[in-house]
Amino acid sequence: MGEGGFSCEYVYMAPDFVRAEEAAVSIWSHGFNYGTSVFEGIRGYWNASEGELYIFRLPEHLDRLRRSGRILGIKLPGDVPELTEFCCELVRRNRFQEDVYLRPVAYKGVPPELGVTLTHAPDHFLIYGFPLGEYLSRDRALRVCISSWQRISDNAAPARGKIGGTYVNPALAKTDAVERGFDECIMLTAQGTVAEGSTENLFLVQGGELITPSVTEDILVGITRDTIIELAESAMELKVTERIVDRSELYVADECFFCGTGAEVSGIGEIDGRQIGDGGVGPVTRQIQGLYRKVVRGTLEKYRRWCTPAYKPT
Ligand code: PMP
Repeated sequence: MGEGGFSCEYVYMAPDFVRAEEAAVSIWSHGFNYGTSVFEGIRGYWNASEGELYIFRLPEHLDRLRRSGRILGIKLPGDVPELTEFCCELVRRNRFQEDVYLRPVAYKGVPPELGVTLTHAPDHFLIYGFPLGEYLSRDRALRVCISSWQRISDNAAPARGKIGGTYVNPALAKTDAVERGFDECIMLTAQGTVAEGSTENLFLVQGGELITPSVTEDILVGITRDTIIELAESAMELKVTERIVDRSELYVADECFFCGTGAEVSGIGEIDGRQIGDGGVGPVTRQIQGLYRKVVRGTLEKYRRWCTPAYKPT
């Protein structure tokens, strides 16, 4: 039934579903030794009135997984519709009837000999899932610091790909922030401009406009980020600008918030000891939070196309 805080009965280990206690990764595998894996974090939301679990933007996550795989030369064992079906089947086998988190991982297996070269090790694929509620506070504004750890740059290890080994970078940053008493941190690029949170993208609200670091700022190009941009423009008629953001712009912003699959939409009340807005979750952030919550659970017809029903595949 899974381990630690992960409750899961069945896991997909390509090409079969197996019981979680039988799912194992070899100690000899390249992925375990060097972090040569790519993964996704996907949320599924239980809609009690419909008796349905909606997986949010599943094809987009699987497509990003495929593109992350291209960076490391890892191939997935199927196209997006096939992988979609594996994810839905995982939900059904585990009979999940609450909010869940799904984690597909593609990784380099055991190479014929010692070495870091990517091309010799075979590709493996698995998916697990488990119930998950709140990851960062949704209602309380977060206390955040700028990390002394720099965001990895594209020519060192691309942040654009969701690559296992690159998560040493946010792991160091987040641990440091939490040990210093903060809820989260914001990482800067090697040039000193704003990149993102440890595992979230970042938005500023300034004069009724949304501003977010552009895709060339060593960020993981988030699917929630994309969702917020579309919701802001199409449902709230807010202007959204993607550009370079200076550190001090954060201090003087009207509002700041994080967004991500895990974090959803989380308001920031303080950065480096400076109060943002009135120190609470700002009004625009609250509006976006409210809209996002409805959209992910499949209750707004207009955005239903983003929700894949796991129990009644379309
Ligand atoms: N940045 C990083 C480093 C992340 O790990 C995540 C979580 N996947 C995000 C941003 C947010 O991306 P998404 O909205 O696609 O979950």
